Parts: sequence; structure tokens; C-alpha cells
Amino acid sequence: MVPEGPSARTLRQSTFVSTRSFKLRASPPKNKPGTLKTLSNSVIPIWLWLPLSFVLVATAVVAESVERGPRPSLGGEVGPRILGPPVTRGTFEYRYWASGQSLVGLSVPTPVLIVSGAQPGPTVCLTGAVHGDELNGVEIIRRVLFGLDPTQTNGTVVGVPIVNLHGFRRSSRYLPDRRDLNRFFPGDARGSSAARLAQSLFSEIVRHCSYLVDIHTGSFHRTNLAQIRADLGDASILKLARMFGDIAVLNNPGTVGTLRRAAMEAGIAAVTMEIGEPLRLQPEQVEVGANGILDLLAGLGVTVRDEVKPKVQPVYYQSTWSRADDGGILLAEVGLGETVSVGQLLGTVTDPITNERKSIVSPVEGRVIGMAINQVVMPGFAAFHLGHLTGSVGVAQAAKSLATGRGGRQPSRGAVGDLSSLTPIPGVDEDVSDDLVVPETEMEPDDHRE
Ligand SMILES: [Zn+2]
Repeated sequence: MVPEGPSARTLRQSTFVSTRSFKLRASPPKNKPGTLKTLSNSVIPIWLWLPLSFVLVATAVVAESVERGPRPSLGGEVGPRILGPPVTRGTFEYRYWASGQSLVGLSVPTPVLIVSGAQPGPTVCLTGAVHGDELNGVEIIRRVLFGLDPTQTNGTVVGVPIVNLHGFRRSSRYLPDRRDLNRFFPGDARGSSAARLAQSLFSEIVRHCSYLVDIHTGSFHRTNLAQIRADLGDASILKLARMFGDIAVLNNPGTVGTLRRAAMEAGIAAVTMEIGEPLRLQPEQVEVGANGILDLLAGLGVTVRDEVKPKVQPVYYQSTWSRADDGGILLAEVGLGETVSVGQLLGTVTDPITNERKSIVSPVEGRVIGMAINQVVMPGFAAFHLGHLTGSVGVAQAAKSLATGRGGRQPSRGAVGDLSSLTPIPGVDEDVSDDLVVPETEMEPDDHRE
């Protein structure tokens, strides 16, 4: 992963002087090389040269120290306080989050990328690899952050590409103690290792955010269609969910303990982006995800974009998991994003010993928004995640209805304009939670909550 343009230079510099900040594009002007020559060609008396030289040298030294040295004090020209003193407007900075969950001498702080816009605005936070084996978000954050020009940005964009550094190093979803970090937010400074780590991230970074996008993928050999999971019962979150271009939206309040849910409860407008498979870097998915976040930044006024055509954004108020009733080799007959009808064959499960084959059929008219990759499965395995088409409606339309109190095309339960129809629907498949695509009984036996 080689960053493009000026960012690559900054990465190299950071290898040597990692704790300093650098002004990428807002550096103070240096003396132009031609200045002395011009002066020497002029008719300035010789006795003026000594003081003039002194002034020139002093100016050069000051300019150099401003660029490479500690951040200058700019009074009100600063952004939010994150992981240290307030960030300086118009800069790209590396800062480091030390979770304290290691021996002090062996601790490797987690890098945090901060684009601090030249103009004030909201603080948008992007988190990736809360599950250490989910790689698409790491690349999405790199692409978005290094693509921003601090001088043309309003507000602050904070990227934590790899939250779970321990899991990332081991290609594991979990923390070293087998706990799922995304069940421990907002954390507890006196709790388990996972709770302390969650508390540290939450207090040091997340609490400073106006908006949060936590990026995930499917888990355990499953893949997800690019989708935003959002509590559409909250007007501010509904508004946020509308800003991701044409990425689908799934109404979901979020499981207790997830970063998204904890952020929402702290008053931060938060959504989860689900995109692709774990343990893989998928260029097409990364592009879709990065474009969605760029749409979001433009929508929030963090960046300025030429007029963008409104995009159709499907939203699913309900979803269902179709499971394998028998064990065997699962082979899918449908693809991610495909629309399916009631009774349509989704896949087959074949016992490799008896050659007995069973079918998994769709119980609803819907769209495949998540699915298992072909593999050997056990009875009860959650294989196809279907968004209900009868419960879908354009997000823009839903928001409009919410604002006017008038319904358009109706979702399956209640009128669109009825606020209650946008609140969590009782009876919705409980497996449909942030990234929790399998019930806990299907996880490793030692994976548990405290
Ligand atoms: Zn995840």
C-alpha cells in the first residue's frame, strides 16, 4: 500500500521524526532562490549588505523551524484537541493512540491520521479493523485521508485505520484474549483488557467526533454487499445515512456494546459501513466504500464538490437470514446484490458422503445483502442475508416523508411518514446486528461477554 503524491513523502519523513507534525500544503513561504541574485544585481550600497544578510539568514531559520519544529502557536487557528494539543488548521498530522494494553516498554502506539482543514467545521471520524481481520476499511481510510487537501477542507477528518492492532497482526477478528472488541464499548477503565481498550479509544478519540463511520466486513467466510447500518429512527442518523451516494442502507439500531451504539448513546451521529469479506483486500469494494465516504464528506460540507447527481439509494427496513438445515457442502446459486423472489433457489447443501442434496430457498422477495462463501457448513448455518424488498424505500423518500409526515411507497410495516415505522421493528432477525452475522452459539465456545 503505497500512498500517492505528497503523502508518500510525509510517510517517509515520519519514519525518522515520528512524533512531529508536518505542514503539507500550508507551509510558510521560504525565501526564493532568486532573491539574492536579484539583490546582488541591484544598486544597494555595500555597507547595507551586513545587516541585510543577517535579516535574510534569520528569516530562513525561522521558516525552517516553523516547518519542521514543534507546532507553532496560532491562537484561534486551531482545531479540536485529539490525542494531545489542538490540531493546527490546514495540516496533515500523524498522532498516536496508546491504549495502555501492553507492557509499557513493548507498547506500539496505534497510528491516527488527522486531516485538519484550513476552515472550521465538523469532526468526522473513520475507524477500521475494530475486528483485526477486516481489511477493506484499512485501505478505504488510507485512500480517503491521503486524498484530502487540508487547505481545501472544512473541519477535521480523523482516521484510525487499524483499531485492533493486536488482531490485525495475527489476522484475527479478536483480541489476544479471544474477546470481541466490538462488544465492549464504551468500555470501562477498570474492566477487562477489552473493556479498558474500548474505554481508551472511546475517551481519547471517539468522544471528540461529531460523526463516526465504523467500517467492517462480513465475518467468518461471509461477504456483505456494501451497506450502511443505521438507526433510521433517529432523524440525525437518517440524514447521515442519506449521504453515502448509492450505498444501500439497512435499518438497524445496533447491538449493545458496539462502537456505533455506544457512540450514538454519547450523542454522536454514528453508522457502520459493512463492505465485502474479511481477510481480503477487494479493490472494487474499496472503491465503492471510499466513494461513499467522499460523498458523505461532501454532503457534510467538509469538502466542496462540483454538483453531484442525486443517486438512488435503496433502504431495507427488515432483513432475514436463510439458514442451512443440513450439514454439507454449500454452493450458492445466487450472487451478492441479486434480487430474489419467494421460493427461489438460493443455494444447495450436499452431503459429500451420502450425496444427498438439500436446497435453501428464499422465504421472501428480497435482495441478497450478505452471503456465505462456498464452504462446508453445519445445520443451522446462516447462509444468505436477505433485505426485504417490500420493506425497502428510497432513503431520500423516507427522509422527505419523515419531514412532511406524509408517506410515499410503503414499507412492510406502517406508513413511511409515520415515525414509528422508522424505529427498530420488533421481531426483526436478531442476527442482523453490527457485524454480528452469526449468533453467539455459532462462535467459538470461549468467545463470551463478561
Ligand atoms: Zn467487523
